[in-house]
Amino acid sequence: METAMDQKIEALAEALAECDSVVIGAGAGMSTAAGLTYTGQRLRRYFGDFVRAYGFGDMYSGGFYPFSTPEQHWAYWSRYIWINRYAPIPNDAYELLLKLVEGRDYFVLTTNVDHCFQRAGFSKKRLFYTQGDYGLFQCSDPCCNETWDNCETVKAMVEAQGFIAQPDGTLDLPEDGHVLMEVPGQLVPTCPHCGRPATMNLRADATFVEDEGWHEASACYGNFLRTRTENGQKVLFLELGVGYNTPIIIKYPFWQMTARNGNAVYGCVNRGEAYVPRELAPQSVCIDSDIREVLLGLTGATVREGERL
Ligand SMILES: [Zn+2]
Repeated sequence: METAMDQKIEALAEALAECDSVVIGAGAGMSTAAGLTYTGQRLRRYFGDFVRAYGFGDMYSGGFYPFSTPEQHWAYWSRYIWINRYAPIPNDAYELLLKLVEGRDYFVLTTNVDHCFQRAGFSKKRLFYTQGDYGLFQCSDPCCNETWDNCETVKAMVEAQGFIAQPDGTLDLPEDGHVLMEVPGQLVPTCPHCGRPATMNLRADATFVEDEGWHEASACYGNFLRTRTENGQKVLFLELGVGYNTPIIIKYPFWQMTARNGNAVYGCVNRGEAYVPRELAPQSVCIDSDIREVLLGLTGATVREGERL
């Protein structure tokens, strides 16, 4: 028997099959669905010592702690960056999404900073990561609009604590499980231009550096919207795991663009927060469920759709 959930997934599959283009908006929930969780086993495995010392309940909160030394700050952050940005993505959620839109006219707007879209094979030309990237450093008191790759530095920092970074990026604990909670002073990153401390290229305040790549991606997104949303084209705005932390980046613009175009469809998949204003309901498919489950359903539903033709 077909459930209400099946019907919604089928409605979304239909919107996907019929649209001219797809604009994906992805928030934190997308990476949670991909297994990049901030509590539980991953927290205990990689931050057990910090949890015992400071009582952090999740990785995210720990990131705000004012550690007393830069050596300890970077011990925490290098682990955080490595497991969320360089270690393999725990499951296939991003790949399933790529399978759905590959060969289609699509663009991705994301507030995620874990580089998962590129890592899963999405084209960089179809991607705008508005809030930065864990894999880039910038000057903490920006002396220039530059960012630089931090892979080697972060790897050196986790290894200096005793972790073993495998060739595929998996981070292992040493056999005795003992790791240091600080990095050597000489590994604390600094700006190559002015010598001030370096920091992650994340939009937390006004010091966020919008480098050349950021501006290029921003222009590509603007161009995509300009050329796809005019003349009543059939656009599917597919919002995945976007909460209410920064609704002005994805959620509200998606609602506005859907409202302005009677041929547009707004799809929203989010566990616990799949909501749409009443005025948009006739143009919307909202699914309150695990994103990966829905993507699995959609890939299956798409195949069924094709078989029927
Ligand atoms: Zn500098």
